[in-house]
Amino acid sequence: MAILADQHIHTNHSFDSKTPMEAQVLSAIEKGLNHICFTDHNDFDYPVSEDYPEGAWELNTDSYLYELLSLREKYKDKIQIGFGIEIGLQESCFRKNAILARSHEYDFIIGSIHLVNNIDTYDPKFYEGKTIDEAIKEYYQTMIKNIKQFNNFDVLGHLDYINRKLPGGEGAYDFSKYIDYTDEVFDILLENEKGIEINTSAVKKYGFKNPNPCIDLVKRYKEKGGEIITVGSDAHVPENIAGRFDVAEEILKACGFKYISVFKDRVATYEKL
Ligand SMILES: [Zn+2]
Ligand SMILES: [Zn+2]
Repeated sequence: MAILADQHIHTNHSFDSKTPMEAQVLSAIEKGLNHICFTDHNDFDYPVSEDYPEGAWELNTDSYLYELLSLREKYKDKIQIGFGIEIGLQESCFRKNAILARSHEYDFIIGSIHLVNNIDTYDPKFYEGKTIDEAIKEYYQTMIKNIKQFNNFDVLGHLDYINRKLPGGEGAYDFSKYIDYTDEVFDILLENEKGIEINTSAVKKYGFKNPNPCIDLVKRYKEKGGEIITVGSDAHVPENIAGRFDVAEEILKACGFKYISVFKDRVATYEKL
């Protein structure tokens, strides 16, 4: 396995994971990784419901960092542990996100679109009363507005995330129809020297052929001059650490990438594939 850095990992500091941080570290060591970056969730203004109480998706950064630093010290001879965060981008809270991004000395920040007009695209309600085409366009329009407004992140998370829960399943929609949107996304990222990640979670968890983004988008990003690219499992449980990195590696090589980016102190270094 040539990709030895997993830069998208959750723990019980996120609302949707029960996994202790140390269990993720031990799994990563067992899998032979030399670098991991924790990227627990912070989504301000997440809609409150029975399932998600007020502030459910807001990270207690101090306790998170405290535990991370003790593990970084404990396992320093075995693995590098990065201090990252996955920030949920929303127009309503871009100022709060800007403060959050500056509040600590993160190694790495992922900016992700989870909510579109305040509804999670995982929620079937998001698709009610609109065609799939409208849903996809709304998703990308929201992404474009958000990354124009706030760009204090290093990579854009799981770019075609909407693909994961679309009715019809993987491959049911022709994403080449949305190239004008994704090209605009790439132009904004490149102008601001931001990158993308390859997120292998859907391959590991749902048996999808493609990670997020799909191979066509990775190829397009490369054609447009994109160089900054990280790989992350989005693991919420230990067995998913570095899950299906073989697929990410194949795609990266097929698209002409020779290196992946590994972030420390918000700066990318390049590791040969
Ligand atoms: Zn995410
Ligand atoms: Zn995540």
